[in-house]
Amino acid sequence: MRAVTFQAPGEVRVGTVSDPVLREPTDAIVRVTLSAVCGSDLHIYNGRFPRVPPGAILGHEFLGRVEEVGSDVTRVSPGMRVVASFFSWCGTCAACLAGQMSQCQHLETFGFGQLAGAQAERVRVPRADTTLVPVPDALADEAAVMAGDILSTAFFAAERAGIRPGDTVAVVGAGPVGLLAIQCAALYSPVAILALDRVDERLRLAASFGARPVPADADATAAVRSYTAGKGASAVIEAVGSRESLNLAIALAAPFGTVSAAGVFAERDLPVDMARLFNRDLTLRSGLGNVPAVIGRVMALTVAGRLQPQRIVSHRMPLDEAEEAYRRFDRREALKILLMP
Ligand code: NAD
Ligand code: ZN
Ligand code: ZN
Repeated sequence: MRAVTFQAPGEVRVGTVSDPVLREPTDAIVRVTLSAVCGSDLHIYNGRFPRVPPGAILGHEFLGRVEEVGSDVTRVSPGMRVVASFFSWCGTCAACLAGQMSQCQHLETFGFGQLAGAQAERVRVPRADTTLVPVPDALADEAAVMAGDILSTAFFAAERAGIRPGDTVAVVGAGPVGLLAIQCAALYSPVAILALDRVDERLRLAASFGARPVPADADATAAVRSYTAGKGASAVIEAVGSRESLNLAIALAAPFGTVSAAGVFAERDLPVDMARLFNRDLTLRSGLGNVPAVIGRVMALTVAGRLQPQRIVSHRMPLDEAEEAYRRFDRREALKILLMP
C-alpha cells in the first residue's frame, strides 16, 4: 500500500510499504478515507522527536471504514465509518477505569514510531473496541477527522483551563489547535478571547471566529495587560509547544489563573518562569488530550453546529502529494491539510 514515512529531519517520503495485518484478536484493520497533518507531525518532521525511527509510517488523525476485525472485536464491524483517538487505549487499566484514558497503562500512539501511522491506505488499530468510535451519519468526514485529535484536544484544553462566564481568555498560538481552542473557549461565554500569533493570516482567521487578534511580538504582554485593565487573562490556553510560548502564556495569566498547555513538550529541562507561577498563584496544566473522555460531546457539538472544525481546512491533497503537504504546512503556507489516499 501507499504510505507516508519519516526519513530524516525535513524529509518525509511517499512510498510503497507492506499492508498491515491483524496481529491480535482485538485488532481491526481500517481502510483510511481521510487523514490529516498535525502540528505534532511537524515536531517529528523538524527532528524534535529523535525516537521516531526512519521508515516509521506517520499520521495519527484519521477517518475510515473498518475493513477487517479480529475474533474478539464486538463493538465495531466491517463497513462501519469510524474515527480513532490518536492513541490506542485499553479501557480496563486503573487509569482508564478512572476516565484518564490519556494515561492508559497500555497507551500506544499512532504514527510516532509506536504504532504504524495512518497517513496510509490502511492502518492496524489495536484494541479496536475502545480505540475506534463510530461516526454519526450527520457528521461530515472533514469535521469528524479532527474529532480524533485536535478538536478533542482543544476542547479538553479549554475544559482544563477552567473558564467561567465573564472571564477573559488568551490563546497563545492560532494554528489549527489554537483556532479550535478559540471555538471551544467560546462555549463558556467568556467576555473576550485574545488570540496571539505571529502569522497575520492566522490572526485574521482567529478574528473571524470572534477572537481579538494580538500580534505575538515584544508588546504582546503589555497589550493583553492593557486590554484586561492590568489584570491579565484568567485562563490561558497555550497551543504551540515551545519554551517561548509557554512562558508567554504564563506571563499573560491573571492572579489565580490557569495556564492550560495543549502544546507537545519533548524537553525534560525546559525553563519555566516559576517565580511568576508562585507570585501570581497560577495553575499550570499540560498533557495529551484525553480524547476518549470528550469525543462524544465534541461530535455532538459539531453536529449541532456549535463547533465548526471544517472551517480551518485549507487544503485537500492526494496522499501521494504528502511531501509537498509537509513543506507547505511547515512554512505556514497551509493551515490544515487533509490527505486523501
Ligand atoms: P502549528 O505549528 O500549525 O501551530 C502553532 C502556531 O503557533 C503557529 O500558527 C505559529 O505561528 C504560532 N506560534 C509559534 N510560536 C509562537 C509564540 N511564541 N507565540 C505565539 N504564537 C506562536 O500546530 P498545531 O497543529 O496548531 O499544533 C499546536 C501544538 O499542539 C503542537 O505543539 C502540537 O504538537 C500540539 N498538539 C498537542 C496535542 C495533545 O494531545 N496535547 C494534540 C494535538 C496537537
Ligand atoms: Zn496531533
Ligand atoms: Zn488503559
